[in-house]
Amino acid sequence: MSSETTASNFIYNIIEEDIKNNLYKNEEIHTRFPPEPNGYLHIGHAKSILLNYNTAQKYGGKFNLRFDDTNPTKEDVEYVESIKEDIKWLGANWEDRIFFASDYFEKMYQYALELIDKGLAYVDDLSAEEIREYRGTLNTPGKESPYRNRPTKESRELFEKMKNGEFPDGTRVLRAKIDMSSPNINMRDPVIYRILHATHHNTSNKWCIYPMYDFAHPIEDGIEGITHSLCTLEFEDHRPFYNWILENLDDYKERRPRQIEFAKLQLSRTIIGKRFIKKLVDDGMVDGWDDPRLMTISGMRRRGITPEAIQNFCEEIGIAKANSLVDIAMFEHFIRDDLKAKTRRLMAILDPIKVVITNYPEDQTEWLEIHNNQDNESLGYRKIPFSREIYIDRDDFMEVPPKKYFRLFPGNEVRLMGAYFITCNNVIKDDAGNILELHCTYDPETKSGSGFTGRKVKGTIHWVSASHCIKAEARLYDYLIKDESDIEEDSSTEDKINPNSMKVTTAYLEPELAKAKPGDKFQFVRNGYFCVDTKDSTEDHLVFNLTVNLKSSWRPQK
Ligand code: ATP
Ligand code: MG
Repeated sequence: MSSETTASNFIYNIIEEDIKNNLYKNEEIHTRFPPEPNGYLHIGHAKSILLNYNTAQKYGGKFNLRFDDTNPTKEDVEYVESIKEDIKWLGANWEDRIFFASDYFEKMYQYALELIDKGLAYVDDLSAEEIREYRGTLNTPGKESPYRNRPTKESRELFEKMKNGEFPDGTRVLRAKIDMSSPNINMRDPVIYRILHATHHNTSNKWCIYPMYDFAHPIEDGIEGITHSLCTLEFEDHRPFYNWILENLDDYKERRPRQIEFAKLQLSRTIIGKRFIKKLVDDGMVDGWDDPRLMTISGMRRRGITPEAIQNFCEEIGIAKANSLVDIAMFEHFIRDDLKAKTRRLMAILDPIKVVITNYPEDQTEWLEIHNNQDNESLGYRKIPFSREIYIDRDDFMEVPPKKYFRLFPGNEVRLMGAYFITCNNVIKDDAGNILELHCTYDPETKSGSGFTGRKVKGTIHWVSASHCIKAEARLYDYLIKDESDIEEDSSTEDKINPNSMKVTTAYLEPELAKAKPGDKFQFVRNGYFCVDTKDSTEDHLVFNLTVNLKSSWRPQK
């Protein structure tokens, strides 16, 4: 991942300023990716992972993977495992630097006591609803809780009792004592601990109080010695509290992490937010978190998208300070761009019409040699069988062609890729007028590679031999979201879901593809990039996923 570390962005500028001011040496730069293990990672997380990892790499510093697991009811080890697998696959290496926020629970508890002792935190007996009421709004100041000024000693005793399980859920909380009239609502005595009798995936039943995210996060960063805590823009208003926590804890008087916000990645025609994806998964609208239509990392992997494509795409979109919607066509450009030279180009027919080559001997098969990728000699050659009956794609024939149609139509001659010229003589139909087959003749002189220069044809079409081809299931994907509507705007997703986001069809493949293994990637010439599904494909029933079609509506800017 060398190229990623060269381009500049505003975060690098800040870090370089910090280095210039002798706050840190290069190798002290320390970042982290802090997922909450409550779902699978998606392409937005990929952007954050690569940013954090590449930043550490650029300066020769450190990169931590930290599970932000302070919310036991939503978290699960299944998610922990999937997150590790996805980050590894993406190419970010945390080495042995893997941490769990839950390992710091004791320390966080001690810090909470420190704040209480300093008169900077208090136990509040108000209900959640009352706390919300007292908080005020953007236009009206908050109101102080009647428990705000209870003696430090009393708060300390109550907090210890909270910890010892003496109170039911929701009866008390610990709050930071800051300023109920602050214009920033996050500073109006935010809750920092709550009572929750829940089993945690890591600490089991050891704790029945859990720290709130805004309290836990700066402490996690502080404990790990993170220098630059990169997060998304919605945390900008939380930064004053992030700093407040660290400023008020003795351990971080000297050196504190710095929070820097950047824009979330938003992509058109898809759903990115974890909770929206979770809803689709829970409602059975997709085939699990790794459904190839999802922009989860596992879904993209199953779809045949490569880590390199994701890296190059993230590099291109860069890091910005303002949110914007990225056109999914741009991502597709990088997917194609990466697969272009890496994949063999084989022939597959997705919607067949049979062609009988009437002047070709009935029992003859020729094995014709054809290159695997004309842009990459190293992928070599293979042999494809040619015989009297073949399939071509329905799209490549028109009985009454428009102007400039150069493919097959009655009386016209085209090249069969890697084989011969054929001319269409007859269209055979059933009584209802449906086309059953086409009768063509071939010219033996025109064999591909024979050096034939007698005449030229304008169209080249792909084909497979009818008696040699194998059948497979092809899953053709379209966008998950109907149009450009921004799914995050409201929570009703159902009416925005494209009902035709997957079409299943039978593909007729050249026999070479019988050897394809789960995860193998190919270009099906003139159709798109496809990969063998890793979940449902078997030797007897191959399943191919459409990764991306070949046509692009996006051009890189020069
Ligand atoms: P979501 O918004 O999808 O629910 P999240 O932010 O709740 O995701 P976390 O596990 O808390 O998920 O996120 C881990 C890190 O990934 C955070 O630092 C978060 O800011 C970052 N992140 C999440 N979504 C995006 C995105 N779309 N673009 C860039 N970074 C993101
Ligand atoms: Mg979150």
